[in-house]
Amino acid sequence: MNAHAIRMTTTGGPEVLEYVEIDVPDPGPSQAIVAVQASGVNFIDTYHRSGLYDVPLPFTPGSEGAGVVAAVGTDVETVAVGDRVAWVGVAASYASHVVADAGMLLRVPDDVDLETAAAIPLQAMTAHYLITDTYPLAPGDTCLVHAAAGGTGRLIVQMARLRGARVVATAGSDEKLELARAGGAEHLINYRETDIVAGVEAAVGRDAIDVVYDGVGAATFEAGLAVLRPRGVMATFGNASGPVPPVSPLSLMPKSLFLTRPSLFSHLLSDDERLGRWNEIIGWVQRGELEIRVGHTWHLAEAGAAHHALESRATTGKLLLIAGS
Ligand code: NDP
Repeated sequence: MNAHAIRMTTTGGPEVLEYVEIDVPDPGPSQAIVAVQASGVNFIDTYHRSGLYDVPLPFTPGSEGAGVVAAVGTDVETVAVGDRVAWVGVAASYASHVVADAGMLLRVPDDVDLETAAAIPLQAMTAHYLITDTYPLAPGDTCLVHAAAGGTGRLIVQMARLRGARVVATAGSDEKLELARAGGAEHLINYRETDIVAGVEAAVGRDAIDVVYDGVGAATFEAGLAVLRPRGVMATFGNASGPVPPVSPLSLMPKSLFLTRPSLFSHLLSDDERLGRWNEIIGWVQRGELEIRVGHTWHLAEAGAAHHALESRATTGKLLLIAGS
């Protein structure tokens, strides 16, 4: 079988990502082999590559994608050869073939193409838990969403609107802000040109933000605390500009703020939880209520170029590596 993967034998810049041939094993009793159509590129893959998050070497990045089941183990009853599936939380997804526990595979409806399906699981389930669990948005709430044209950010904007909340969005260019506006953001701040606190207060007033959804991290964290209402929620869920430095609990006292640093995998604790989020999101996509915007695609062999673009703030929407023909 002609199979390939991206492999790194050391941490470092995008150049450490090598395209190599691999052997595809037979599936274990509860496993499936999937021929990958597209693998999702996520910011966390850059943390694994750079060494910000520890990984065992050699390492194949990626945890998300979509494709067609090519083989199943003897005990597998939930999927069959030929099924179209997507996944999140399956290691080594930057590859032409992945080995997955069959229970991790999510069925893709016939009217959703595989590239769209590959773009959904990680970022849309993240946006979903942020707006339903971390701070359950309700009509009339006001949220601040940073990097609102990005893969995760623009999905948060759209889902916040689906729940009737008002969105204040930041992004690094006017073109990016236009994407946030088209996703439903009401107030737009170019945070390369405008101070975040001044921009938010000019838009909605002082201490008016119920929840900050912050995937940017170090560069935006303090401004987020400053614009929250008393008892508001700071959800710092990423490090795109670098990790947030240690925080003193006393800094939360003046407004009795809540601070959380959530991760997706503590919001996918059971098959029911994973399927519940997937089914609600797929329903929105099928009804045209949620736009999955693939901004950029590369061939699997060009994973390094994808990482470079993502880290250079040169992308919008979802980034995919195409392995299938
Ligand atoms: P994006 O598509 O949002 O790309 C990152 C964006 O961050 C850039 O386009 C850029 O937008 C903005 N940014 C601001 N400062 C920087 C900087 N110094 N370097 C690079 N980018 C910067 O990526 P993802 O949607 O994949 O991820 C967004 C964030 O969400 C990441 O921090 C990621 O780790 C986090 N995340 C967390 C999860 C969780 O469960 N905790 C799950 C999924 C993602 P602009 O130019 O507009 O500023």
